[in-house]
Amino acid sequence: MPGTKTLVIVGASYAGVQLAATARELGFEEPITILGDERHLPYQRPPLSKGLLTGKTTVDQLQLRGPDFFTQNRIDLQLGQRAAAVDAGARTVTLADGRTLDYGWLALTTGARCRPFTVPGAELDGVVELRTLDDALRVADAAGRTKRACVIGGGFIGLEVASALRTRGVEVTVVEAQPHLLTRSFPPIMSAYVENAHRRRGIELLTGRGVRALHGTHGQVYAVELTDGHRVDCDLVVLGVGVLPNVELAQAARLAVDNGIVVDAFGRTSAPRVLSAGDVASMALAPVPGGPARVRLESIQAANDGARAAASVVVGREQPNTAVPWFWSDQFDLKFQMAGLPVHGDEVVTRGDIASDKFSLFYLRDGVLVGAHSVNKPAEHMQSRKLIAARARPTAAQLADTSFDLKTVPTATP
Ligand SMILES: Cc1cc2nc3c(=O)[nH]c(=O)nc-3n(C[C@H](O)[C@H](O)[C@H](O)COP(=O)(O)OP(=O)(O)OC[C@H]3O[C@@H](n4cnc5c(N)ncnc54)[C@H](O)[C@@H]3O)c2cc1C
Repeated sequence: MPGTKTLVIVGASYAGVQLAATARELGFEEPITILGDERHLPYQRPPLSKGLLTGKTTVDQLQLRGPDFFTQNRIDLQLGQRAAAVDAGARTVTLADGRTLDYGWLALTTGARCRPFTVPGAELDGVVELRTLDDALRVADAAGRTKRACVIGGGFIGLEVASALRTRGVEVTVVEAQPHLLTRSFPPIMSAYVENAHRRRGIELLTGRGVRALHGTHGQVYAVELTDGHRVDCDLVVLGVGVLPNVELAQAARLAVDNGIVVDAFGRTSAPRVLSAGDVASMALAPVPGGPARVRLESIQAANDGARAAASVVVGREQPNTAVPWFWSDQFDLKFQMAGLPVHGDEVVTRGDIASDKFSLFYLRDGVLVGAHSVNKPAEHMQSRKLIAARARPTAAQLADTSFDLKTVPTATP
C-alpha cells in the first residue's frame, strides 16, 4: 500500500476548491493536489448565464479564489490536467498524459456536463451549450450579433439566458417540451407565475412541444423546427436541456453510482478513502417528512456544504452535511430563492401578492415547514431557511399573514 498522505482532488471548481480550503482550515498539513481539466483558474459559474451575458460582470470578476490563495495554502493546482483512471485498490490516479499519482485520500468533485442534444442540425454553427466559461464567452459573442435567439429548455439556465438576452434587446423564444416550465422543482402555481412573468417581459414561450430538427444554411443555424411543425426563425440557439453527472471515473473504478456517485452524509463513497461532493454526488439526506433518502443537487450551496463534510473526514473530525438545501436564480428583475424540498409539501401557503412580484410560497408537510419559494423577498427566504432547519411548525394562517413576524415562530425542538 503506498505511503503517501496526499489529498488528491479531481475537479477544480466549487466542491474541489472548497474541500481543499476546508481541509487546510481544519489543520490538514499533508500535500494537496487539485487536478482540473479546464485551463482557467477556478471561476464562478452562476454569472455565466446572468451578469456575463448582460455585461454587468467581467471575466476578471469571476475568479473563485485569487492565484495567491493556492500558493499560500500550499495547494498544487494543476490546470489542463484530466484524470483518466482511478485504481481504488492501489490508491492511484492516472492522468490523461500518462502520469500516475498516489493518494492517501481521493476526492472526486468532477461536477456535471451538458446533456448531449442529438436532434439533426445540433452541430450547426450558432448552436451553443452553456456550462463553462468558454461556452459563456461564445454565447456572449454570438449575442452581440443576433437579433433572434431560440433557447431550448425552460429550466433555470434556459430562463436566465433568455432574460439576459432579452435585456440586451434580442428577440427570444423559449421552447420547453413539458407542458409547463420548471415542473421538476416548481408546483403548478409557481410554474404559472414564472410563465406569466416571462411573457410579460417579452419572452415568447412555446411549451409542450419538442424539437424535431435545427435547420441551417452554409453551416449556420437559421431555424428550429418543433414537433408540431411550428418553425422558430433564429440565428442563435442556446441549449439548456439539463446536465449529466461526470461519473465515468467512479464507474470505471467500480464505485457505487446511482444518478451520481453515491455518498453518505459525510461525502464517503463506497470505496475506502475516496470522497465525493458537488454536482456529481448523490448525497444521503437528513430525513425530511415525505422526502427522499438521497438527492443530487446542482447548486453552489450543496457543493460547498458537501465539500466541508468531506474535508472533515480527511482530518478525522467527521461532521455530517445536514444543511438545508437552498438555491437562487436571477431572471430580469426577479430574484428567485428556494429553500428545502418544496416538492414534498402537501400544503402550499401564499404570503404576499403574487401579482406584485414580491411574495413567498411556503410548503408544509404534516404541519412541518419543508420548503419555501420566495420572489424578491430575501428576508423571508433567510427566515424560511432557519425555520426549515428547525423543523418548525408555523400555522398556515401565520404564514399567510404578512403582518405576522416569522421570527416569532418557535425554532427550538421540544
Ligand atoms: C450557467 C450556470 C449558472 C448557474 N447558476 C447557479 C445559480 O444561480 N445558483 C446556484 O446555486 N448554482 C448555479 N449553477 C450550478 C453551479 O454552478 C453548480 O452547482 C456548481 O458549479 C457545482 O460545482 P462542482 O464543483 O460540483 O462541479 P463543477 O462546477 O461542474 O466543476 C467540476 C469540474 O471538474 C472538472 N472535471 C471533470 N472531470 C474531470 C477529470 N476527469 N479530470 C479533471 N477535471 C475534471 C470539470 O471540467 C469542472 O471544471 C449554475 C451553473 C451554470 C453552468
